[in-house]
Amino acid sequence: MQKIAIIGGGIIGMTLANYLDQKNYQVTLFDEPTGQATRASAGIISPWLSKRRNKQWYQLAKDGAAFFPKLIQDFQLDQTIYQQSGTLLLRPEKQLDELLTLAEERKKSAPEIGAIELLSGEQTQRALPLLKPLPALKISGGGRLDGKAYLRHMRKKAEEKGIHFITQHVQLANSHTVCFGENEEDFDQIILTVGPHLKELTAPLGYRVDLRPQKGQLLVFQTGFKTSGEFPVAMLDGEADLIPFLDGKILLGATHENEAGWNLEETPAAFEQLTDSARSFLAEPEKLLAAPVHYRVGTRAYTSDFAPFFGSLNEQLLVASGLGSSGLTTGPYIGYLLAQYLNTGKADWQVYQKELATYIQHEKTLES
Ligand SMILES: Cc1cc2nc3c(=O)[nH]c(=O)nc-3n(C[C@H](O)[C@H](O)[C@H](O)COP(=O)(O)OP(=O)(O)OC[C@H]3O[C@@H](n4cnc5c(N)ncnc54)[C@H](O)[C@@H]3O)c2cc1C
Repeated sequence: MQKIAIIGGGIIGMTLANYLDQKNYQVTLFDEPTGQATRASAGIISPWLSKRRNKQWYQLAKDGAAFFPKLIQDFQLDQTIYQQSGTLLLRPEKQLDELLTLAEERKKSAPEIGAIELLSGEQTQRALPLLKPLPALKISGGGRLDGKAYLRHMRKKAEEKGIHFITQHVQLANSHTVCFGENEEDFDQIILTVGPHLKELTAPLGYRVDLRPQKGQLLVFQTGFKTSGEFPVAMLDGEADLIPFLDGKILLGATHENEAGWNLEETPAAFEQLTDSARSFLAEPEKLLAAPVHYRVGTRAYTSDFAPFFGSLNEQLLVASGLGSSGLTTGPYIGYLLAQYLNTGKADWQVYQKELATYIQHEKTLES
């Protein structure tokens, strides 16, 4: 039986752990969750109308969204974790016509988009009473995922399968030895799913990684909307999205702070930025914004071209990082693809990304 270490228990690591074939592997998952992006995030799974032009990213995000029905079935995710709530896109009317055309075009290769409908202001408000009566495009296939609830559930599943968890910050002595506390342990394979920390973790082994931390803050308002669990999510024009969850919880997020490094403070500036961005869309801004609020703060990883990367670094090391703002959409699928690779030897991922060496290289290769 081979020994596998997964370092990093975010959405990739936890999904990967659950898809590994336990008959062949003895799996240990190391995680020290300070600043973890997945736990801080709660987000929208609705990549189809993104303005990003990177075709490989779109293919990955589209296939990542299409993977959700399998994920839900394989791990019995309930509505506290994921719900196909539908997405509202609020834009000026002219842009809505363009988005409608794009949605219909994209639906040809992404039937998961579901029903596409232009809503009048009244219809928008009926669907999501928090909003002013503004026209919107609705797509029924969009959903919302609570990162923290997902991890809690998947950890339970992983423990039931016999996966061993160690809550510690680890380092690598070489490509097959993990150091934690006073201990060292050898593994046949090590998978690094450490988000933005990949750079510092692999530096002692001589790797250079194109990766930066990005701070994200989102606001969680506790409102009296009893039916909030039935509301669609809303992608507002600008930075902020409204993400209703069960029991009156309404999330507003998220910031993208490139200059904040590893800082995890909750800031009034984030509150101002997000609420200012949402205010003109809200029917009764003061009512929502006066509700008790708490923050979720995490650190995303992003690369120079904002694209994720994953694959084999050498015979023992696998890596995955750089998921940026769309990691809830792409992360479970990347975890699954890595598990499939370990289970079957098939690496079906070239179509989704540039060469791994675009983002991570050994210093010897760089010098030669
Ligand atoms: C506020 C916010 C909102 C977001 N909203 C959305 C959204 O709407 N839609 C969407 O698709 N995505 C969203 N994202 C992005 C998404 O959450 C991330 O891209 C994704 O969760 C990254 O997952 P990961 O597994 O790569 O890394 P992470 O979740 O960061 O997990 C990596 C783990 O590795 C641990 N680790 C690192 N180094 C070590 C070490 N040496 N030893 C032990 N453990 C270590 C870390 O502490 C962490 O626990 C959002 C992110 C944030 C912060």
